[in-house]
Amino acid sequence: MNIAVNASGVTETIYLKDYTPPAFAVQDIHLDIRVFDDHSIVRSTLQVQRQHPGDLILLGRDLQLQRIVVNGQQLAENQYQLDAEQLIIAELPDQAIIETEVIIHPESNTQLEGLYQAGSDLFVTQNEPEGFRKITFYPDRPDVLSVFTTRVEADLKYPVLLANGNLLETGTVGSDRHYAIWQDPTQKPSYLFACVIGNLQVLKDRYTTIEGRDVALEIYAVEKDIPKCQIAMQALKDSMRWDEEHYGRAYDLDNYMIVATSAFNMGAMENKGLNIFNTSCVLADPEVTTDAAIMRVQSVIAHEYFHNWTGNRITCRDWFQLCLKEGLTVFRDQSFSEDLQSPAVQRIDDVSVLKSHQFPEDAGPLSHPPRPDHFVEINNFYTATVYEKGAEISRMMATLLGKEKFRQGTDEYFYRHDGQAVTVEEWVAALSAGSGVDLSAFLTWYNQPGTPTLAVQAAHDAQAKTLTLHFKQSIKSHHKYPSLKAVPIPVALALFDAESGEQFTLDCTDLFENQVKDGVYLFTQEQATITFQQIAQKPVISLLRNFSAPVNLDFDYSDAELAFLLRHETNGFNQWQATQALLERILLQDHSVDVYLQAMQQVLPQLAPQDPLLASRLLDVPTESYLASRIDQNYQPEFVAEKREALLNKLAQFMGDFWKEIYQDFDPDQQQEFSQAMGVRALRNIALSMLARHGDTCAFDWAFNLYQHTTNMTERLGAMRVLVWNNAPQAEQVLADFYQRFKDEALALDQWFMIQAAHPQADQQQIAQLTAHADYDLGTPNRIRAVTGGLASRPVNLWQNVGVEHFIGLAKLMDEKNPIVGARMIQVLSRWYTLAEPRQHEVKAALQQLQAEVKSKNVVETVNSMLAI
Ligand code: ZN
Repeated sequence: MNIAVNASGVTETIYLKDYTPPAFAVQDIHLDIRVFDDHSIVRSTLQVQRQHPGDLILLGRDLQLQRIVVNGQQLAENQYQLDAEQLIIAELPDQAIIETEVIIHPESNTQLEGLYQAGSDLFVTQNEPEGFRKITFYPDRPDVLSVFTTRVEADLKYPVLLANGNLLETGTVGSDRHYAIWQDPTQKPSYLFACVIGNLQVLKDRYTTIEGRDVALEIYAVEKDIPKCQIAMQALKDSMRWDEEHYGRAYDLDNYMIVATSAFNMGAMENKGLNIFNTSCVLADPEVTTDAAIMRVQSVIAHEYFHNWTGNRITCRDWFQLCLKEGLTVFRDQSFSEDLQSPAVQRIDDVSVLKSHQFPEDAGPLSHPPRPDHFVEINNFYTATVYEKGAEISRMMATLLGKEKFRQGTDEYFYRHDGQAVTVEEWVAALSAGSGVDLSAFLTWYNQPGTPTLAVQAAHDAQAKTLTLHFKQSIKSHHKYPSLKAVPIPVALALFDAESGEQFTLDCTDLFENQVKDGVYLFTQEQATITFQQIAQKPVISLLRNFSAPVNLDFDYSDAELAFLLRHETNGFNQWQATQALLERILLQDHSVDVYLQAMQQVLPQLAPQDPLLASRLLDVPTESYLASRIDQNYQPEFVAEKREALLNKLAQFMGDFWKEIYQDFDPDQQQEFSQAMGVRALRNIALSMLARHGDTCAFDWAFNLYQHTTNMTERLGAMRVLVWNNAPQAEQVLADFYQRFKDEALALDQWFMIQAAHPQADQQQIAQLTAHADYDLGTPNRIRAVTGGLASRPVNLWQNVGVEHFIGLAKLMDEKNPIVGARMIQVLSRWYTLAEPRQHEVKAALQQLQAEVKSKNVVETVNSMLAI
């Protein structure tokens, strides 16, 4: 056993290699949950059946055990072992009925895990990954599947009583209480159990599945938010149809319920038939919700719905397999979103997230394999690597197989494993068997950390008319994973005639066989060379089209070639990729900005009217945080920020007339499609900020005018941002006005906090004002994240005292109050060791000081890893 010593004593590391199946299965569980103002009583009855030799291990945390009865006999204290984490009963017969009664305290549960009070009128659960053990004693592990029957009882002031499955019975208890009994006919692990007790209203709809099942759809929220549930309802129906069409998967219960709560640690949770959502991922209304947030609602609704097959019906054997369900489900929701709006822009946005979150994570001290092999606290592994890199692994296999074979592979996976708790190996094996293509080499992607670098060299031979590409892959070694292996890298590529801009048909013969199929070369070795025939002139080479693998590309493009790709690439994603490569050279390698400016001026005026959404994304400039992740030592945030500012100023000046035209001539209300309107709003927001930068006197007036007259939140926030961040004379007035208008709209108010925290000159006094504000609330993770998100978006401020002290202070506060959130927040500082001195030493000292004080497994594991560099 590997042990880490910390302030609370000893912390145990859990290893994948130590997995053993449970000694007992649970055939059936009856839960009886009675909620009172100052405590709740939970009784459970388990019917257990021996599978293997060994003791019955029931996990339980923070439970006050009242009694335990086995086969009708109450156990004396010497007949079981109980500690802070588990209750062990030895020498049990092969079949037994175990009854327990415990008292729990959801009303004072601030960790938002297990059953907790989420505001004055609502109790909800969050049981993934290990929350169920805070409700009752149970083999709380994903490989124990059971049929749940749940009785929920509470005061009549909470009219809504929900649990998974079908409603069997309701009734009253005395004069002021009532109950409901629910039964979920499907077998599920405890992490998918949910119940809800509260005072909520409901939006109802219906959906008929392709199999003819009539499903009642219900979204529960507080009364004033019900009108904001329409977009989510539509997205739910669209997702149900999409999964039938693309994966042949239909829904399997007679109802599907979604409950919105503002007190939630994460985005949402896929509990069987009873999803629980952060309000930020379900409420959507253009008057209070930005376009980006609306797109997020649609994708999270789809994500949780898709889990019904990838996650619920086929679940994980253990928590090391988390990316089995998360990676695949993210890939599925990304594909859904691609179909919903613009595939190119969706891919752009997904790759942006990957590069700005997952790449830095994988380059720092918290780097881990998508399927980790050890952990202290599994909650710390709901990471960009598990989710986003996991999705890229599924995507690579899908790219390689093509639509038809990928579908045969997933069909086989559902056929083999429906109703089971499985591993990543079983997923890859089923995909291979169904498609007839051996994909086992992709397991390496799941098992090792780090972003590979793909180095490519090209040599053109005019006489032989050949183009030779030499490929080499490498990955930085990792102290915990010293021997890293080559991974299979699908490289989607195209060759363009440098003069005409036309694409060559690929004719590739090398020593063995034709290796480039449908424009994709599968590179599996450490090094390889391929040769294309019939290439008379030196072509322009487009590599990693559609970002066919999550790698860093090292290819010696000239700026002119990248500008060429920006003009001639045939899809928007590849055009975007060319802009980002150009910008990285300008911002990190001191290339001249001229080629970029000219290319943008050629492309944008034509593109903007046709595809405003894509045009808005081509204007993306890598964020300071992403740029920082490319700098491994002597990082000076001010320096990066200055360079980025200088570039934006040039862009503002160079295309001054274009910005004016965009702002004046483009009207979102004249667009046919939502995606077009969204594109126009995005472009006009960029134009406004460019005009303000340019020092154009009209910019503030336009922004103020837009702020006052629009009813659309994307526009209102765009205008407010320009005024506030540029310290315009109208800034105070719009901030005060926004507060008055939206003080009762929590998600809009989050934006108000965020914009102020992200002020370029935010200092300690301003941040202190925000955190002392009456509406700042440590019990609402969304509000905390509004401030941390704003601060972290300005690395210059983040790495000053204002930022470091905010994050260290928060980690201390949350260590006990809400360790899941505390551990997540402190990760923002994980690249401290790249800073130039003296800053590096100062931040390190602050982290060491924190390390000495914290106690939760979550924060301890995170800070320990951050300092073990
Ligand atoms: Zn998920």
